Amino acid sequence: MKTMPTMRAALLRGFEQPLTVEEVELLDLAPTRVLVRTKATPFCSTDVTSFHGRLGKVPPTILGHAAVGEVIEVGGEVRGIEVGQRVVVPGTPECGDCFYCAAGHPDQCAELFDLGGVYPDVARTSDGLLVNAAGCVGGYAEIMSVSRNQAFPVDTDLSWEVISLLGCGITTGVGAVLNVARVGPDDAVAVVGAGHVGLWAVQAARLAGAREVVVVEPREHRREVALEVGATVAVAPEDALAAVRDVTQGRGADKVVEAAGPPSAQRLALELSRRAGTVVLSGLKDASGEVSFSQIPLAIHSRRVLSTQNGNVRMRRDLPAYIRLLERGALDPAPLITSTYRLDDINTALRRSERLEDLSGVFVF
Ligand SMILES: [Zn+2]
Ligand SMILES: [Zn+2]
Repeated sequence: MKTMPTMRAALLRGFEQPLTVEEVELLDLAPTRVLVRTKATPFCSTDVTSFHGRLGKVPPTILGHAAVGEVIEVGGEVRGIEVGQRVVVPGTPECGDCFYCAAGHPDQCAELFDLGGVYPDVARTSDGLLVNAAGCVGGYAEIMSVSRNQAFPVDTDLSWEVISLLGCGITTGVGAVLNVARVGPDDAVAVVGAGHVGLWAVQAARLAGAREVVVVEPREHRREVALEVGATVAVAPEDALAAVRDVTQGRGADKVVEAAGPPSAQRLALELSRRAGTVVLSGLKDASGEVSFSQIPLAIHSRRVLSTQNGNVRMRRDLPAYIRLLERGALDPAPLITSTYRLDDINTALRRSERLEDLSGVFVF
């Protein structure tokens, strides 16, 4: 019998317990799956939420829901992915066959969302516990065992650190602007939240030709980065309404993208939009969160309130396009990569993300 490789992985064994880096044994590879040697994984704020048990993940689990790496083995039924290829393993699969993929909404692919948050096991600990991979990725580990529908070969000389941002921050932020809000030339855009999603939304809005990009962000340092990557104005939340009205003759923004998370930020996003404007909500702070809106702006003023998971991207169409934008320098990753980490630094990365000290802290392997 063939023995499966072992690998080092950062395990969440219990909520709010420090993660432990352990040697685990991978389970047999199913014929529809591939093994990927992890090269880079950005720490995502979603994992702070998971760490606190607010997203329904079941320990023991390997967090890290988007990553990149090199294919080291493919199952017998896998076609179109070869050993040695560079692949993006994004937070969302795209099976191509399910109801949602067929309906043009692979962001809701049944392969992930029909699981209801119960992910397949990928490894076993030395004390015999089965370990699952959060979001079916498990990027805080030396090897990922993933579905063939969640590994997308890419052809580029960009660094691993840069392309690691494609699977969550770039897809969500750029997709929210281009695919969902559909920002066009001359739009006045507001972006609520200048974190690792909002700052990509700012860059995409600028690329799409927006005439104003007003960023709303409580932390001064993040406002400065927003101005550096293309915001025309950056203000604290208490100044947001005045700032948006100031550049829209009092109307409010044509398009608002929320990339913050708290219910208060989503309410603010609605308030910043003009009548018949478009609001795109993408943040999530807590699975039990609730948002309330007043009825007049919704029922009488014809606002379009949309939500997006992962920017509604279609991986095979959008990943190559986003890579070309990065290669041309039209999207700039440099200000967003604020730290690099080794796997043993996992608890430091978690702490720094929770304190909002990193934009994107990237694990390199
Ligand atoms: Zn993420
Ligand atoms: Zn699907």
